[in-house]
Amino acid sequence: MRLGVDGVEQARKEVDRIVRQRRRSFAWCRCCRGLTPPELTHERGYCMGCAAATQGTVY
Ligand SMILES: [Zn+2]
Repeated sequence: MRLGVDGVEQARKEVDRIVRQRRRSFAWCRCCRGLTPPELTHERGYCMGCAAATQGTVY
């Protein structure tokens, strides 16, 4: 399948939209200060890596 110029532009706009939406919902990890996607944010505000490091949580 080939996308024409219009198709590429359309896809790019769609990606931009999704990225913007996700960025709004990103959370800061309180430990490493990294941006963490909401689905990876530990309930106490840690990312998965820091939650594992600080609380011994095993995923
Ligand atoms: Zn972290």
